[in-house]
Amino acid sequence: MSGQRQPRMNDDLKALRDRLGTVSDLSSAANVLSWDQETYMPDGATAARAQQLATLRRLAHELFTAEETAVLLDRLSGTAGQSDDTTPEGALVRVTRRDFERERRIPSNLVAALAQESALAQQAWKKARHSNAHGSFASHLERLLDLTVQKAEAIGFDEHPYDALLDEYEPGMRTREVKAVFGDLRERLVPLVSQIAEGSQVDDGFLHRPYERSTQWEFGLAVLRDVGYDFERGRQDVSAHPFTTSFAISDVRITTRLDENFFPAGFFASLHEAGHALYEQGIDPEFDRTPLADGTSLGIHESQSRLWENMVGRSRPFWDHYFPRLRTVFPDALSDVDVEDFYRALNRVEPSLIRVEADEVTYNLHIMLRFEIELLLIEGGVSVPELPDVWNAKMEECMGLLPDSDAHGVLQDVHWSFAAFGYFPTYTLGNLMSAQLFNQAQHDVPNLTAQIAGGRFEELLRWLRRNVHRHGRARSAHEIMESTTGSTLSAEPWLAYVREKWGEIYDF
Ligand code: ZN
Repeated sequence: MSGQRQPRMNDDLKALRDRLGTVSDLSSAANVLSWDQETYMPDGATAARAQQLATLRRLAHELFTAEETAVLLDRLSGTAGQSDDTTPEGALVRVTRRDFERERRIPSNLVAALAQESALAQQAWKKARHSNAHGSFASHLERLLDLTVQKAEAIGFDEHPYDALLDEYEPGMRTREVKAVFGDLRERLVPLVSQIAEGSQVDDGFLHRPYERSTQWEFGLAVLRDVGYDFERGRQDVSAHPFTTSFAISDVRITTRLDENFFPAGFFASLHEAGHALYEQGIDPEFDRTPLADGTSLGIHESQSRLWENMVGRSRPFWDHYFPRLRTVFPDALSDVDVEDFYRALNRVEPSLIRVEADEVTYNLHIMLRFEIELLLIEGGVSVPELPDVWNAKMEECMGLLPDSDAHGVLQDVHWSFAAFGYFPTYTLGNLMSAQLFNQAQHDVPNLTAQIAGGRFEELLRWLRRNVHRHGRARSAHEIMESTTGSTLSAEPWLAYVREKWGEIYDF
């Protein structure tokens, strides 16, 4: 590098960071408003809040996609910024350019049309679900689908239009790769589900007894503290749909919802969201106010929530530690229950119609069904009016159950009403990655099982911080999986986990 280019590069880098910092501040302010909307905002403020959010999001988008950003990125490319991709500066330029190219390829009238149609479609979806009539949502979905195909074409793709959509949530992943992994998974998962169905069913009746709300809340908070969620840099509130949101690395919020008559609902929602939040709280503080301060893909993000929720939270050693305390605070519900009954009840498997209520084993079948249908929709292999029939046929085929209504079938998820095609597969990718990562953690952290049985999680968290969290978006999902586990995405570790855990519970 020449002596003259270095100072200018530093100036350019500083200018880029300033610009990205402002974009980040605007987005974070919008996130605070969204969080407030879901937690404390009075209903009367809906229209005013929509206006405020639209203003902040538009300003952030305009600033980010402005010509000045392009000039800075061009000047920084080819200098040390890009040639040395392993430095934080190099990663910043690469990730910013990626986001920039993607956003700039989508014409602003298409962005506006998608935003407007989504807002209308979400309203229509709520009504359609309530009145159980897919027909009233169909015309909205057709328009969204049409705009989504236009978006995929604007972004561009080599192999399949779905690649362009998937790339938004799982950067670098191809449709063909998902098909291959899901095909393999399905072939071996379906017989496992049948074997489980043949075993004698686990009793979980005591999970549906009354569990007083405030006691649930306190118990959950204590566990969140134990796993390392930092309440100095976050807090938990209640919302209708649990979520995690970040305003800064020093402020990552979670929400949960409690069900007085089903203990696992609130507890595992908390632990799941805490898994997401530990990831965001663990990102290198140097990345704050830049595009690097985020999860690298939704799959990796979900791997963190599922690792804490399932691999840790639904394990026997975890409840060996926590069950005595739980029984002490809920004597009426649990005095006649032992830890073994409790562990098995938490892991009861039963095919069901609703994705968000599904157990760990059958959950991925719900996702594969949605992935297959999304491909058909994007390829034009099925029309929107045919959707309920296609859904029901596939549900019967993979789950052995026929939905009694569209509300419990094709209308159950919000995703399509905001045109989030390509999102669903990341849930299963996250499940598979969580098993791969947890296997590696068990290999790298001596006595991990004993530590969990002792309620000690610092070493596991340190391991996750080092291998996954701190990198933010500076490392891709693929790089994280390879550098941490030595292998690429695979269904085998998750399948082995299922065979071992449920083979014991259901005796096969
Ligand atoms: Zn999640």
